[in-house]
Amino acid sequence: MPYLDYVAGSPVDERVVEEIVKYFRHPGNPSSVHSLGLEARNIIEEARNRVANLINADPSEIIFTSGATEANNLAIIGYAMRNKRRGTHIIVSAIEHISVINSAKFLMKNGFEVDYAPVDKFGKVRLDELENLIRDDTILVSIQHANPEIGTVQDIHEIREIVRTTLHVDATASLGKIEVDVERMGADMLTLSSNDIYGPRGVGALYLRKGVRVNPIVLGGGQESGMRGGTENVPGIAGFGKAAEIAKEEWKRESERLREMRDRLIEGLLRIEDTFLNGHPEERLPNNASVRFSYIEGESILLSMDMEGIQASTGSACTSKTLQPSHVLMAIGLKHEEAHGSVVFSLGRWSRMEDVDYVLEKLPPIIERLRMMSPLYMKKKSGGG
Ligand code: PMP
Repeated sequence: MPYLDYVAGSPVDERVVEEIVKYFRHPGNPSSVHSLGLEARNIIEEARNRVANLINADPSEIIFTSGATEANNLAIIGYAMRNKRRGTHIIVSAIEHISVINSAKFLMKNGFEVDYAPVDKFGKVRLDELENLIRDDTILVSIQHANPEIGTVQDIHEIREIVRTTLHVDATASLGKIEVDVERMGADMLTLSSNDIYGPRGVGALYLRKGVRVNPIVLGGGQESGMRGGTENVPGIAGFGKAAEIAKEEWKRESERLREMRDRLIEGLLRIEDTFLNGHPEERLPNNASVRFSYIEGESILLSMDMEGIQASTGSACTSKTLQPSHVLMAIGLKHEEAHGSVVFSLGRWSRMEDVDYVLEKLPPIIERLRMMSPLYMKKKSGGG
C-alpha cells in the first residue's frame, strides 16, 4: 500500500520502538531522589544530549514538550508574555502552521499587535516586506524553516540578517530532511517534533537559546528547568532521543534517496495535462511533491486514490476539518478553485521507487475520469473557455 502521507503522520522506526519498549514499564520519576528516579533522569538527559546534538545545540537549551504545537505555543505565547515590557508587536509569516497562527491570534486578543509577513508565489517570505514590518517595539518574529504543505524552504540565514530581534523558527517539517543547525541559522528558539523524524507522537521540544527567557504555559512542579510542568514522558522522550540519534547518522543519505523519488514523482505528475507544481521548484523539501490539478477537487482525488491503495493528503491534516481552502495556498496567491484541486504527496523512510511508479500508473486515469465528470473541464474541452 503506497503511503505518501508522511507529512500527516510517520511510522515509528523499529529501532525507536525497541528503545521505547525498554523503558515503557520503568516506574522511576525523574524528579525522585532514589536510584530508580535517578535512572529515569539519566534516560531523559541522554535523550536531551541526542536531540541537542542533532541541531548543534547545548543540551541545557532543549525543553521537552508534548509536541510541536505546544513548542510553538510556548515559543510565541510564553515569549510574548515574558517580554511584553520590551514591546507588544510580533510578526509571523502568512504560511505558518495553525499552531503558530492561533498563538498569534491569542496574543492579539490579549493586547498584542500581530503582522503577517507575506510570501511570493513560490511561498518564499518577501524579505523587503518583512523588513518594512519590523518596528522598534517588535519583540518576536516567527518564520518556519520549511512548509509541510507546499515544501518551500526559507532561507533562515538571510532572514536572520534582517531580524535584529528574537527569531523563532518552526523546524517541524525540515528536521531530518535538510540541515537544521541552530548556530548556522542563528535561531533563538526552534520547534522540533519527534514523529516527523520517525519517533513517537506526542513528543517534541523547544530549543531555547541560552539567555532567551519565556514564561511557562504548562504550569506544574518546575520540571524542564521550570519551563514546562508535568512529569516527563520518559519512554516517549527516550524514543525521540533515539530517533534523533538515527536522524543525525542517516539524514544526508536518506535525503538523497528521497530527492530522487520526489523528482521522478513530480516529473511524472506534471506530465498530466493542466497540472501545476505548488511551492518552489528547487528550494523545496526533498520529500514533498505538492501539485494542483485544474477542474477537479482534491478530496475526490484522495478518495479515488484511496480505493487504489494510495494515501496522500490535500494539505494540512490539522486543518482539514474546516473545509476552508488552505491559508497556505491562499497566501501564495492561488484562487479558491486552484487551492481545492491541490494534493500533497509526501515521502519518507519506507517509501520506495515502486510506490512512485504505482502512483504514476494509477493516477492519470483517475484524473481523467474525474475530469470527465467536471462541468468546468467539459466546458473547456468544448471550447467554452
Ligand atoms: N508545525 C508544523 C510545521 C507542522 O507541520 C505541524 C504538524 N505536523 C505542527 C507544527 C504541529 O505538530 P503536532 O500536531 O505534532 O503538535
